[in-house]
Amino acid sequence: MRVTPVKYCGECHKDFHHTEEVWYAAIENNCFCSSCKEKLDIKDWEPRIVWRSEKDYKQRLDLIGSKGTVMRSFTVIDAHEYESGVVLKVSDVIGGEYWVSEEDVNLF
Ligand SMILES: [Zn+2]
Repeated sequence: MRVTPVKYCGECHKDFHHTEEVWYAAIENNCFCSSCKEKLDIKDWEPRIVWRSEKDYKQRLDLIGSKGTVMRSFTVIDAHEYESGVVLKVSDVIGGEYWVSEEDVNLF
């Protein structure tokens, strides 16, 4: 999926999380959150992944090494705090690495 550097929704101005899936509308040349996508009268949407610049976050060393579950168990190997929340880079038991929102996982 293509990435976007757009930092917030073009309609409600809600901050996007790093790696959030958002919607690009070519006619507006802008990106929108899922709830605004439902309300806007635009036909052609393309999915985008938000990729925020390195300077936007503070690394959360306290979270690295935490264990938890999403669909599979994983280990947190990086953690970035943005104004809009914390995203965690996790490594799962089959070797996949990906970013998740702290709100979407249970750490234990
Ligand atoms: Zn929105």
